[in-house]
Amino acid sequence: MPPSYRINNLLAEKPLDTEITVTGWVRTRRDAKGNFSFLEINDGSCLANLQVIADDSIPNYDTEVLRLTTGCAASITGMVIASPAKGQEIELKATTITVTGWADPKSYPLQKKRHSFEYLRTVPHLRPRTNSLGAVARLRGALSFACHEFFNQRGFVQIHTPVITTSDCEGAGEMFTTTNLDLDNLPTTAGKVDYQQDFFGRRAALTVSGQLEAEAYALALGNVYTFGPTFRAENSNTSRHLAEFWMIEPEMAFCDLNGNIDLAEAFIKHLLQYVVDNCQEDFDLFCRFIEKNLATKIHNALTTPFARITYTEAVEQLRKSKHKFTFPVQWGTDLQSEHERYLCEDVVGGPLVVSDYPKEIKPFYMRANDDNKTVAAMDILLPGIGEIIGGSQREERLDLLVARMTEQGLDLDEYSWYLDLRRYGSAPHSGFGLGFERIIQFVSGMGNIRDVIPFPRTPGSATS
Ligand code: ATP
Ligand code: MN
Repeated sequence: MPPSYRINNLLAEKPLDTEITVTGWVRTRRDAKGNFSFLEINDGSCLANLQVIADDSIPNYDTEVLRLTTGCAASITGMVIASPAKGQEIELKATTITVTGWADPKSYPLQKKRHSFEYLRTVPHLRPRTNSLGAVARLRGALSFACHEFFNQRGFVQIHTPVITTSDCEGAGEMFTTTNLDLDNLPTTAGKVDYQQDFFGRRAALTVSGQLEAEAYALALGNVYTFGPTFRAENSNTSRHLAEFWMIEPEMAFCDLNGNIDLAEAFIKHLLQYVVDNCQEDFDLFCRFIEKNLATKIHNALTTPFARITYTEAVEQLRKSKHKFTFPVQWGTDLQSEHERYLCEDVVGGPLVVSDYPKEIKPFYMRANDDNKTVAAMDILLPGIGEIIGGSQREERLDLLVARMTEQGLDLDEYSWYLDLRRYGSAPHSGFGLGFERIIQFVSGMGNIRDVIPFPRTPGSATS
């Protein structure tokens, strides 16, 4: 049996005059005069196709090879030879071709021409077979590895926080309830659903963040991180929001807001550098076909320290600018994405860290600053993306945390375990959440978040 090669390894090794086997999907077939054909084969290991030459010495040339069309799957054995053609060094001179799956050209949804991303969203199960969505899938895998590499190099322990939770991290709604009650026949008491009869004996939901649980582990292990799916039932139909997305959440004990920002900047830069160093071919595709300025944008983000300003400075900048905003800017209200974009894209022209937001617009767990008006929060904004990271130093002082939770009307009994972390061995600690899909968008230039996750879940849409 000749050795099997994946095309990426084959193109790297170029084992000339060796008999080998490759498997993959036909991208195109072109017939030449003199009873032979060129097949372009892609196996998903890389962007490049392998050119295969098939002629009528192959037993099934007339009966099968000449019927191969885009999307057919085949196993091909042949000799690796130097290619006379431009743009490729080797090609495969086939001796046997076994077709494992046909793809009727009358109905196969992916034809040779370039399809729009909108169209490809209607065939999420087939779109990874296209150049761009295949490249995105490889990029996503590589970035996932780079996340673990970054934290592993720094001695962080990965924590698997629960997907089903009974605590709402932001202290607000927009969660997906998980239940096994019969929805057509709900048990009620006093006109309300009786969750005591539900699976967990209380109402439970899909997690919106693993932060609170990560805090518990940080206050035992020092430095931890989570990397998991996150769910938000918010009705934001934008190119930056999904109902199911993935978030990376590091949490560090004995770390203040500045240490938190430093880690976040190093993390983003590590991810960008990893792609530049390890995903060259796919990154080139994004630079050529997806975002014209991508290489420069990434280079700048890698080589320039992130700008850092406070919320109060940001508001001053916005108020003195001549730019017309739809939403007025006023100290105390949240920055709208038009404000964030203006600061990041027009004022700074690169990544921007905004810190120390008014406490009224931030969740209960963020640490109060001495001014009593702001909290030790930080958001990181990226050009073209907006918010990539939201984080803070957490309130480690029991009395202040209790006061804040009471102010916000939270049930202290529900959070008793969380308060224990301050009752026993409390310590300053900090963390943040990075939206995985948004960093993929940033490094690929892909405009719509639906195109950087395999099977996107958005309001009104959850198909495979
Ligand atoms: P936004 O203001 O953009 O809706 P947020 O402030 O609600 O985000 P956080 O709760 O701070 O988001 O979550 C941390 C990070 O997770 C965000 O900075 C962002 O990168 C990402 N993120 C948040 N919501 C979504 C979503 N619906 N889809 C994809 N990524 C998201
Ligand atoms: Mn946020």
